[in-house]
This record gives sequence, C-alpha cells and structure tokens, in this order.
Amino acid sequence: RFLPSSHTCQLILASLFAVYSSLAKDFSQMSAFGGAQLSCDVAIVGAGLSGLSAAQRLLQARPDLRVLVLEAAEDRVGGRTLTKPVRCADGESRGWCFGGSHMAKSHSRMLQLAKDFGLTVSEQPESAGKNILEIGDTIDRYEGETPNLGTLTLLDLDKGIKSLDKLSKTLMESRPSWTNLDGMTLSKKIEKETWRQATRQCLTAIAEPCFDGEPDRISCLQALRIANSAGGFLALLSDGSELRIEEGAQAVCTALAERIGSDRVLLSRELMQVSATEDEVRLTVRSGEEVTASYAVLTPPLAVLSRIRFSPELPAPKRGLIEAAGSFAASPGWMTSAVTAVLTYPTAFWRSQGCSGDILSHLGSPVPGSAMPVAPIALAGEVTSPDGRQPALMVATGYTTEHSWPNAEARRADILSHLARFFPRPEVDGYVDYVEHDWGASPTGASPLPPGAAVGLCDSTGLLQPTGRLHFAGADFATEWIGTMEGAVQSARERPMRCCGGWRLDSEQYKIH
Ligand SMILES: Cc1cc2nc3c(=O)[nH]c(=O)nc-3n(C[C@H](O)[C@H](O)[C@H](O)COP(=O)(O)OP(=O)(O)OC[C@H]3O[C@@H](n4cnc5c(N)ncnc54)[C@H](O)[C@@H]3O)c2cc1C
Repeated sequence: RFLPSSHTCQLILASLFAVYSSLAKDFSQMSAFGGAQLSCDVAIVGAGLSGLSAAQRLLQARPDLRVLVLEAAEDRVGGRTLTKPVRCADGESRGWCFGGSHMAKSHSRMLQLAKDFGLTVSEQPESAGKNILEIGDTIDRYEGETPNLGTLTLLDLDKGIKSLDKLSKTLMESRPSWTNLDGMTLSKKIEKETWRQATRQCLTAIAEPCFDGEPDRISCLQALRIANSAGGFLALLSDGSELRIEEGAQAVCTALAERIGSDRVLLSRELMQVSATEDEVRLTVRSGEEVTASYAVLTPPLAVLSRIRFSPELPAPKRGLIEAAGSFAASPGWMTSAVTAVLTYPTAFWRSQGCSGDILSHLGSPVPGSAMPVAPIALAGEVTSPDGRQPALMVATGYTTEHSWPNAEARRADILSHLARFFPRPEVDGYVDYVEHDWGASPTGASPLPPGAAVGLCDSTGLLQPTGRLHFAGADFATEWIGTMEGAVQSARERPMRCCGGWRLDSEQYKIH
C-alpha cells in the first residue's frame, strides 16, 4: 500500500492528468502567463503531511468545498516523508523510511492518522548494547544514557541541560528575554551555562540533530522554542521516538491523498508567485498556470517560501523571517544538505560487537583519502524491520560545510570507511543493499533560523498569524513538536486558521463564514 507499483503510479498519474485536463477545459481562459486558469475555494500549497491534513480537515467539515492541493514534486506526495524499496537478505525488497519515521507515544495526531488508515504502528525493536559518541578524534562507547565523560564533565553537563530545560519550559512567560535570547547563538548560551570544553562539545553534538542546525549558527531563542514545543529540553532529549509505522510514514500521506481524491491533488505544480487582494488569492505555478482561490494555505518550509514572490510583499516581520531562513539554508549545513542512507545486512553484526548501532558523531576526523574535512556520518541507528528479521542501519550525513562529494560512489565509500572505524571492515562491506536519498537536492529542506530571526515566530503578530487570505502551516509553524511529523499535522489542523477573519477553525472543525 505504501509503495505503489509503477503500474499503479502510472494509473494514478494518468487519472490525475485526465482530471486536470477536464478541469482545465472547464476553466479554459488563458492566464496572463499563457497557462490555463483554475479556480477553487481553498488552494493548499504542498502535499506533505501538513498540506494533506489541512485538505482532509477542510473536506471533512465541508465536503462541498472546492479544495486543490498544489505540489511541486512530479511523481509523489509526502514531502519530507519518503519510503523507498531496499533489498533485504531474503532477496525481497521492503520499504524503508528515508525522512520522517520515528514517533513518540505522545504524538497522538500522527498515531491517530495511522490508526484511521489501518496502518501498523510498532515499537522499534530494543537495541541493547553500547552507543557510540565520537567527538573530534575521541570515541566513547557507553551503555545506557550517559557517556563516559568523567564526573566533573557529567556534573557540568547535568547543570547545562537543566538550565536549558528550565529556560525552554518558561520561555512563553519570559517575553522580555526573547530579543536577548534571539540575539545570541545556541553555542553562546551553552558557553554561558557550562564551564568545561568537553561539556560544550557534548552538548553541541546532542543539540545539532535536535535543532536541525549547528549551535554556533542557530538562534538560541529558536532552539528554546523548539524545545518548549516538545515540553522542554529534557523532554526533547528523553523522548524515546520509539514508534514507527511499518508501512513507512509516507503511507500516511499516500492514504490522505487517496481520501482527499486524486483529482484534488495536482502534482508538478511548483508555486512561483502569490498575488493577493482583499477578495481573492491568485497563485501562479512554474508552467504559467494560474489558480484563483478565496483562501490559500502555504505549507512549504520557511526557507522554501523565500523562493516565492509575493505581491504585495508580505509585512516586514514575515518577510524578514522568511528571508533569514532562506539565506541560512543557502549555505550548506546540518540537514539543509543531509543525505540519508539505509544499509541492509545479513546479520546485525554491530550487536555481536556489543553495540546498539547508535552513533552520534560531531566533527569526527576525516576518513583516509576523503575530500571531506570531517567524518561523513553525523547520526546512525539501527532500523531493523519490526519483526527483527531484516537487520538494517540508517545513517545520516550532517555537517558538510562547503564541501561535498564528487559523486554518490565517493560518498558511499566514505560512509563505509566511517562505519569501519567502529566495526569490522568485512562485515561493514558485506551489506545486501545500500540506498540513499539526497535531501539537499529536493525543495524540502529544514528551516533552522539564525540569530535575530526567531522573535517573529514567538510573537503573536509574527508569521504564525495569517496575512489576509494567506495562511501558513507546516512543521516550522507548529506550536507543538516543531519540526516533526506531529508538528506538521498539528500546525495544519489547529493553529493557523484560528485567527482568520472570514475563515476560522475552532478546535473541532473548520468553519467558513
Ligand atoms: C532526514 C529526515 C529525517 C526526519 N526524521 C523525523 C523523525 O524521525 N520523526 C519526525 O517526527 N520527523 C522527522 N523529520 C521531520 C518530518 O519529516 C517533517 O517535519 C514533516 O514531514 C514536515 O511535513 P510538512 O508537511 O510540514 O512539510 P514537507 O513534508 O516539507 O511538505 C511541504 C511540501 O511542499 C512542497 N513544496 C515546496 N515548495 C513548493 C512550491 N513552491 N510549490 C508547491 N509545492 C511546494 C514540497 O515538495 C513538499 O511536498 C525528518 C525529516 C528529514 C528530512
């Protein structure tokens, strides 16, 4: 169900095309850009979890509503959820997640969606054994939650984490400190709250994947905002993320798109320009087609919004925020240029080495012969199939600075060499299949924020509010679990519509006035 065969894909695409053609005939006027014109009540931009959940919610409340979802991708829905086939030791191909995958037990909206669509949620099989923490050229293998950093560093780490936790929990009540916190990087705050170099390096290694950005580049306020949305920094760290959807998280999007109706989800429609008046919104996509709508919901990540032209321009705080996210993402870094890879193996050899498969690496030394200045893997973990029969590791590259690999072969060679630093080379090289996805090549990057840009998101007059007929949703605009799949659904279903003059969402249903 989650990986439609190519035949099914062709059928879906053909039916989308047929329906689109008939819609285009109904609206046979030509736009000023030479393309066809469509019209609807609500146009939703982006067919990720957020856009598709918004469409589903709207249609649940008002089945008569003319809703269109415009998606840039040519061949799929799902955005940052992506399931691809990977060959396993038994010769069969199975789907593995290359983007969003893990959920915590508190991710009630995602769990409910999975249940509604009859998908199977299972616990990640317990991976006992030692975790690996690599900082520079130091490698620590440790059991449980606590690295072997020595008593003084651990005490310092405990103090640092607790003070960040306290700050994050009280963030919304401490408005006067927002500007100050937004004026500094997370690294600066870590420096203030700790006194040992080893603590700072460890906290930096932990913070990078939590906040999708390097602590010396991201706003401290934004990091605290993300932590606050998860219930605090400690909750963010200790949240198990232990649940996975067996069919892959993208299956939720595929099912949502089916429920909404394939005639309402238009692929290959990259939004280029938005013109809004008091009465309507006009969206121009790359091909020149125009969609006129009473309201629009924009769900691309902040950084991607910076590539869209708005007429009239968005108000200054929003514009500034989007531009800041865009210029931040334009320089390569954590998650804006990440590659994820899944490697299937005949045996879980890491376990026989006494390891769990979890690796966290921060500026690890480069592997011999590599063009990259640091070790390639930032994060790795076991993603063996829920029945435990198909051993697999997932790795994510992270900190790629301005360097990149000349080709995928060179990247794979470096990733294998990095794994061989921890495990025997013959086992590492004995993978059954290696499949990767380059997130830097798609318009779905994450949106960390530099200092000075995050106040707009905390402030009630900021981007969280609609601008006239334009609504903003997506994982960046969540108020719970920012940056996650749960956040993507929450942002689209609850918050962004609440304050709209003519079109309001209360906690239970959309109301169009
Ligand atoms: C490698 C990776 C691992 C992750 N791991 C986890 C995890 O384990 N757990 C978790 O909860 N979350 C995880 N996430 C985050 C999670 O996947 C995302 O937060 C969530 O899927 C975002 O959903 P969204 O709908 O807000 O945005 P997106 O999924 O980014 O959807 C936006 C959509 O808009 C489309 N679009 C962009 N620009 C335009 C345009 N101009 N015109 C039309 N369409 C456009 C995009 O193609 C995309 O389909 C991970 C993300 C990545 C990349």
